Amino acid sequence: MRLREKVALITGGASGIGKASALQFAREGAKIVVADIDRESSEKVVAEIQAAGGAAAAVVTDVADRESVQGMIAFCEETFGRLDVLFNNAGIFHPDDGSVLDTGDDIWDRVIDINLKGVFLGCRYGIPAMLRSGGGSIINTASFVALHGSATSQIAYTASKGGVLSMTKEIAVEFARQNIRANAICPGPVQTPLLAELLADPQRRQRRLVHIPIGRFANAEEIASAALFLASDEASYITGSTFTVDGGITTAYVTPE
Ligand code: NAD
Repeated sequence: MRLREKVALITGGASGIGKASALQFAREGAKIVVADIDRESSEKVVAEIQAAGGAAAAVVTDVADRESVQGMIAFCEETFGRLDVLFNNAGIFHPDDGSVLDTGDDIWDRVIDINLKGVFLGCRYGIPAMLRSGGGSIINTASFVALHGSATSQIAYTASKGGVLSMTKEIAVEFARQNIRANAICPGPVQTPLLAELLADPQRRQRRLVHIPIGRFANAEEIASAALFLASDEASYITGSTFTVDGGITTAYVTPE
């Protein structure tokens, strides 16, 4: 078992990448805290883990809210006694997030609050808990758009993910000598509820598909597998990395067909 005895907290753990990670991490022996704004879905993930013989608990959390995040970390320590793996994964993609010329301040603020400040708050309160446990692994979900501008504008989302990537590197440097590793996963487009509406439209789907050398979208389990590796001691010399899991998007120049 690759995460035996470890306690892993996963934000956005009720759906998509977070849910797939919760299930995979639990199969590898971790005790899981599912932290999500969606109570019902979180409880379903917890029940699934428990039914398979694993240990898990849910805490309703809004990652954009300081007190809620403080409560999330306290819940983790109270329930399982420690924090070894912090997967700051919750994020949103707003349908009205578009060009820099017409994206409203309200959309900008909402996306930045959840996607960027949410990761900041997770680290702000998660790192002290991790230090109390003697160190650990932080994984932050950025995106391939942290590395390349998106051809289909989503200015707040792209900016938020660039911030997540840079912040992760600085945290990695600051805490490397205290046995904390911090890495950013940069997924390409993944078939999860976050992109469901967009990918249901054949034109918008194809507009994105032409850029992916592997020729298909990722599934959540493929991103979870990368997170599992970074969470485990197999990644003991990996910190500050930009861990792309993107089907080759950021490597290739692909001529649209
Ligand atoms: P998803 O919509 O399936 O899951 C996101 C989860 O986050 C949901 O359970 C939702 O309830 C939760 N959430 C939303 N706002 C929250 C808040 N304020 N506090 C706590 N929880 C909240 O999406 P996903 O595709 O699994 O996305 C997970 C992460 O991966 C996000 O950070 C997303 O930006 C990133 N990502 C996704 C893709 C993709 O194509 N799906 C690509 C690159 C990066």
